[in-house]
Amino acid sequence: MALLQISEPGKSTVPHEHRLAVGIDLGTTNSLIATVRSGEAVVLLDEQGRSLLPSVVRYRADGDPQIGYLALNAVVNDPMNTIASAKRMIGRKTADIKSLRDHMPYNFDDESANVPRIITADGPRSAIEVSAEILTALKKRAEISLGGDLSGVVITVPAYFDDAQRQATKDAARLAGLNVMRLLNEPTAAAVAYGLDQGSEGVYAIYDLGGGTFDVSILRLNKGIFEVLATAGDSALGGDDMDRLIAEWMLDEIGNDDLNVDSHFLRQALVAARAAKEALTEDDSTDIELSLPDGSNKKIVLDRSTMNELIAPVIDKTLLPCRRSLRDAGLDKEDIDGIVMVGGSTRVLDVKQKVEKFFSKGLYTGVDPDQVVAIGAAIQANILIGNRSADDMLLLDVIPLSLGIEIMGGMVEKIIPRNATIPVTRAQEFTTYKDGQTAMSIHVLQGDRELVSDCRSLARFELHGIPPMVAGNGRIKVSFQVDADGLLSVSAREATTGVETQIDVKPSYGLTDTEIEQMLRDSITHARDDVHARQLAEQQVEADRAILALESALEEDGHKLLDNDERSSLIAGMEELKALADTGDAESIKQAISDLNQLSEVFAARRMDASIRSVMAGHNINEFSE
Ligand code: ADP
Ligand code: MG
Repeated sequence: MALLQISEPGKSTVPHEHRLAVGIDLGTTNSLIATVRSGEAVVLLDEQGRSLLPSVVRYRADGDPQIGYLALNAVVNDPMNTIASAKRMIGRKTADIKSLRDHMPYNFDDESANVPRIITADGPRSAIEVSAEILTALKKRAEISLGGDLSGVVITVPAYFDDAQRQATKDAARLAGLNVMRLLNEPTAAAVAYGLDQGSEGVYAIYDLGGGTFDVSILRLNKGIFEVLATAGDSALGGDDMDRLIAEWMLDEIGNDDLNVDSHFLRQALVAARAAKEALTEDDSTDIELSLPDGSNKKIVLDRSTMNELIAPVIDKTLLPCRRSLRDAGLDKEDIDGIVMVGGSTRVLDVKQKVEKFFSKGLYTGVDPDQVVAIGAAIQANILIGNRSADDMLLLDVIPLSLGIEIMGGMVEKIIPRNATIPVTRAQEFTTYKDGQTAMSIHVLQGDRELVSDCRSLARFELHGIPPMVAGNGRIKVSFQVDADGLLSVSAREATTGVETQIDVKPSYGLTDTEIEQMLRDSITHARDDVHARQLAEQQVEADRAILALESALEEDGHKLLDNDERSSLIAGMEELKALADTGDAESIKQAISDLNQLSEVFAARRMDASIRSVMAGHNINEFSE
């Protein structure tokens, strides 16, 4: 990899042709699309800033179909033309979905014997066509937000999908004009999102509890490849069931016997139940307001422990497939290395608690459970499209030279060491050097030598707005992040105010491998010189610090707390140190600092007393005994 260097604003050279690749989570309830942007997988948002696209399509007699939220709004009023949960039908034969059909409001076209079609205002439509509409909408979203044509996609499917279901999904993608590089199992995508494929081996359980379905998969990672050992689940179990149980409790609470409960009121109760459930992820209790069929309003309170009792049967029911999948895989709970949590319903605190207890293993919950599958798919797509080609990987998978910042004395403090594998993020805290310092200059360097002058300067920037503090009290956290493309960004953040500045450092191809090698060789040859230089610089900084501190103390209290003789002897010691700091070696400077410290001990003690006295003035000693 070339050295990292700052490019001029607006003139950054494109390091390599970046082909647009996306990952798509084509879900039963919701779908998402994600991509890897400068090394980070991100979910793409629609024009309203929403990440989810409801997997719903409404066909109309006159006009294009409506997709997503628009269609979702029509589910109640135009149910026959508004197709939801197409994923439950995709790749299935008419005979396969007989029992499913009983739960659906649609009219099926029984002429089309093999592939079931729903009769809509715009003609008969199969699940493949419905899915293609959803994929087309996602594709448009990506092209708008990425500004170009997509080169390839990875689409996720449930691990249990059979060949026909997978083929049908691919057909839908083809209809949508997408180039499918791979279909990826949803649980594998989730594992990839957590970087589990980067490990050498391991066995993971992927627990996916959504709105209407529950899936659990046991994956074994072996030499970078995930093998599905077992899958189990319940195609009619999820957050919707929790909502129903909570809604039933609500009806009991308000005395539903006296109510003329209509379907409109039931829907309202379900919506309120879902909102209450989601609120209880954050809060211990929540208010539910209902307008009753008789026109009056009613407020009830639901607390978390009551909800936990209500939804316990749903959570407990998910543990059966967990047990079965372990048995099918021929494993014990002890064999599982970790559990990856997927799906919106895993936000429910008791779900996390019970799953953790069941497996007695740690959970992976850091990635948004709605997005984790799409994110993993995007990461896979980015690799498959060749944005991280074998060449790139060879060059970019480790940091060739250390990265650091300049500290006092013209030295370099390494933040990311050479050979760290990327992507990598490291942070370190630095402090202020002077009393009342309100800005800090950050100089980013690359190289393995100790002195700034021997390393390569990559960037400089300044952090302003540090509140004035005593030297050494400021806490500035400097973070270095190198993404998978080898791009460095540096940020600095002051802890008390949160002020932050950041800068992207772009790769430069100005230096050859030979030059890098030369720099490395130099750093080894000069290692001994460097140590001396570093020690000297350190003592010089120490000396400056001591002088600065004494000067400001003398200015403040010198006349109050010292007589003339004491004062001039201190000033003489200080001048001596000043002269040595410029000309002496590390050892002699160190000695002079320690001499000056001894000389100023009495002064320091008097200042301490004085400041305690001023704090105590007007107070009783007992106030301080706490
Ligand atoms: P699907 O996999 O079926 O598409 P999702 O993974 O999107 O479903 O999950 C939807 C479910 O997640 C809904 O039941 C919703 O109520 C639930 N959910 C979303 N956010 C929360 C939350 N904060 N607390 C509890 N449940 C939540
Ligand atoms: Mg899902």
